[in-house]
Amino acid sequence: MLAINNQDKFNAVVETALAKAANFPRWQKAIQRAIEEIESNPLIHWVEEDKSLLICSPSNSIYSANGICQCKAFVEFNQPCWHRAAARIARLYMESEANQTTPLAPRPDVIREDERAIYICGGIRPEEAKVGGFRL
Ligand SMILES: [Zn+2]
Repeated sequence: MLAINNQDKFNAVVETALAKAANFPRWQKAIQRAIEEIESNPLIHWVEEDKSLLICSPSNSIYSANGICQCKAFVEFNQPCWHRAAARIARLYMESEANQTTPLAPRPDVIREDERAIYICGGIRPEEAKVGGFRL
């Protein structure tokens, strides 16, 4: 089950997704199905490492969806599928959750080049990064 701890944020992500899909009926349908599945399917798991959604669908197939999917709708017909819609909604929701709890890093374009590496590499200082020939 995908943990939705902030229903307001989830609803906001869904509303934005539906608005963006206003002219794409197949995506709207995929989004509606994605919402149903996110709220009811216990076998949907967010995989933080690659920002994907691991889905065991009601058809007993397992899909790993982010921008791509292994399902027939996508692979054979390149059509919108609820797996990808769910993965995108989950990613946007997780990002909005993360933004609330993590202080914002300085904008990369207004800091020095050597400082930028620190933020990109998650706290490695430039002098440490040079040890052992490690390059940024
Ligand atoms: Zn799919």
